[in-house]
Amino acid sequence: MTDTTPNLVRRIPWPETASRPMGTPLQPSVVYAAESPDTLDAQYGGTLPGYTYAREGHPNADVLATMIDRLEGAEGGLVTGSGMAAVAAVLLGLCRAGDHVVGADQLYGRSLRMMRSDLPRFGVTTSLADPTDVCAMADALRPETRLVLVEVVSNPTLRVADMAGIARLCRERGVLLAVDNTFTTPRGWRPFEHGADIVIHSVTKLLAGHSDATLGYVSARDPALRDAIRLFAVTAGLTPSPFDCWLAERGLYTFPLRYDRAEANAARLADCLAGLRGVRRVLYPLRPDHPDHNRAAALLGQRGGNMISFEIEGGREAANRLTRGAPGLAFAPTLGDVATTLSHPASSSHREIGAEARAALGISEGFFRVSVGVEEFDLLREDFTAAIAAATTG
Ligand SMILES: *Cc1c(COP(=O)(O)O)cnc(C)c1O
Repeated sequence: MTDTTPNLVRRIPWPETASRPMGTPLQPSVVYAAESPDTLDAQYGGTLPGYTYAREGHPNADVLATMIDRLEGAEGGLVTGSGMAAVAAVLLGLCRAGDHVVGADQLYGRSLRMMRSDLPRFGVTTSLADPTDVCAMADALRPETRLVLVEVVSNPTLRVADMAGIARLCRERGVLLAVDNTFTTPRGWRPFEHGADIVIHSVTKLLAGHSDATLGYVSARDPALRDAIRLFAVTAGLTPSPFDCWLAERGLYTFPLRYDRAEANAARLADCLAGLRGVRRVLYPLRPDHPDHNRAAALLGQRGGNMISFEIEGGREAANRLTRGAPGLAFAPTLGDVATTLSHPASSSHREIGAEARAALGISEGFFRVSVGVEEFDLLREDFTAAIAAATTG
């Protein structure tokens, strides 16, 4: 019997249209058919534009990268499959055996792990130093130091790095300065305007803003570095999903609005928390009682960001009562969502380092980090007042 089913796999051409879609099309295609070996050759040679294979690049990633480039004042940025993919692309794309890397001692947990466990396996030695102390950073540098990786505001203690000092140091010593700008965002501070060579983001967080896409971004000032980072990312398959890029692009349109609103909420909430009974201390860079207040004011101006940390009395039991007493505040180890989220470093991000190391950082069982969202402020005040009352009167 002959099969009379029409040949569905012979794909039907996309309808011709004289108008253009206003929304960015989502393009999940893995492969792109070329017209001829001549045109394909020209594409690979860079004389004709065009995509070939999605791991090597696709339009949804490029649209998103261009948007973040604009925010950062960057060029030729690359979107990766996660923030850690961006960190990995920088460290593994630019370093070789024999190089040395200096990291800030309070980097994001997985970045710390890469410094401590992964780079040494490839013959890249590493040191960690306190980025609030430029002398400590200078002492950590060696003749073979290739790169310094820092975050402007540390997680979860919200210490503010001496970025001016570190940028000067790196310039003088001919060392590349890579800044993970996830916490500060280009709305708070733009690393390329202050001497950074490389900017990294976890787009997953504030930029995309809705906790539904895992993505990263990286750009470098020097095109040769950009090429090396991109080549490694494409080879290692650190490519983002088109759908995630499409979601993040949609989120990014409202990023400045969301950020400004969340930041204004955070500044008010920090003061509100500081006035509540049972709260031992509040960390917010623009508060006068913050340990780096003067530097924060000089570096960030009025841009204190959306992150607050605070400590309550009463240890783990009080911490349990706090999260249970705040059902409206998601207790989730993330940041940058439109909604306010709470995290408890002692049971999550800083669980592995042990009680002694936590104590040295001031991270007790009563220590919480808040990623402030865009809610009505009165709602936040009510939720936090109730949560802290529940924690302290248990
Ligand atoms: C979350 C985060 C990362 C890692 O990003 P992912 O998208 O989760 O891989 C890196 N740096 C900082 C500062 C982060 O907060």
